[in-house]
Amino acid sequence: MKNLETHLALSLPSPMQTISPKWKGLREISLSVKRDDLIHPIISGNKFRKLRSTLTEMPDDVSTIVSFGGGFSNHIHALAYCCMKLNKKLVAYIRGNYPTPTPMLEDISQWGAQIVFVTKAQYQRRHEPKYIYELNQKYPNAIVVPEGGSMQAALSGVADMVNETSTMPPDFFISPVASGATLAGIASALHKDQKAIGVGVLKGEGYLEDLVRAFLPIQADKNWHIDHRFHFGGYAKNNDELINFCLEFNEQTGIAIEPVYSGKLFFALRHMIENGEFATGSHIVAVHTGGLQGNRK
Ligand SMILES: *Cc1c(COP(=O)(O)O)cnc(C)c1O
Repeated sequence: MKNLETHLALSLPSPMQTISPKWKGLREISLSVKRDDLIHPIISGNKFRKLRSTLTEMPDDVSTIVSFGGGFSNHIHALAYCCMKLNKKLVAYIRGNYPTPTPMLEDISQWGAQIVFVTKAQYQRRHEPKYIYELNQKYPNAIVVPEGGSMQAALSGVADMVNETSTMPPDFFISPVASGATLAGIASALHKDQKAIGVGVLKGEGYLEDLVRAFLPIQADKNWHIDHRFHFGGYAKNNDELINFCLEFNEQTGIAIEPVYSGKLFFALRHMIENGEFATGSHIVAVHTGGLQGNRK
């Protein structure tokens, strides 16, 4: 698919916005937000980045895409919309069962996706080569895309985002981390002297680093790290402090965030800035990876 961006009506490059929320210490540094949440009104930011090369390079005889996610998955949502626009069938393996469909599931049914509910035990097999092989047998002419769209081919699309900042290259990129390909893609595209910080949105010290490392060349300089202080007890866990922070951030900057990914990112960033964890004069780019659809009830 050539001209994917035109076909999907994407606004690229995404805007870069300087923000000044009422945080102590903000005057010592410069903070911008890479608004990947504005790439498209429906397609969640980093999920498009991660799918870009797979969708662009998809052979014409591929009729079907098979992928995996939870009932609120930003990845499945973005992919289902892209599939509808590109005239491909999506088979979505969804963990759990939703007798009352979530807004995400309602959207994707409307866009023609086939939903297959699987038990937690079945869902656990999603990375097994034998299981992928069985899916390929079951759906001929299909591509099986891993959960979150996190695959080697995802890195180049995320690198595009970094390259869009080349006129004003920051010292630090900071982004949420869940399945790791976004942080790996950022790290893969940095110049020397630039660093990437991941904010773990789930309890995964060691585990998240392994995920990121698996996407990167073994000999690569380690120009990234993951901060594990801000997962709030686990994936999609939150508390009143985080919820209030999201509302306040929205009031102060006009930028909407949600408590699963971007809320934890900006909460972490405020802490780091107020705690003096960045050298004076640092230029930081926070990547707003989108994901607001997942916050609907
Ligand atoms: C999936 C997602 C992430 C996490 O990206 P990974 O590549 O899985 O680490 C961050 N933000 C949003 C909004 C997401 O949907």
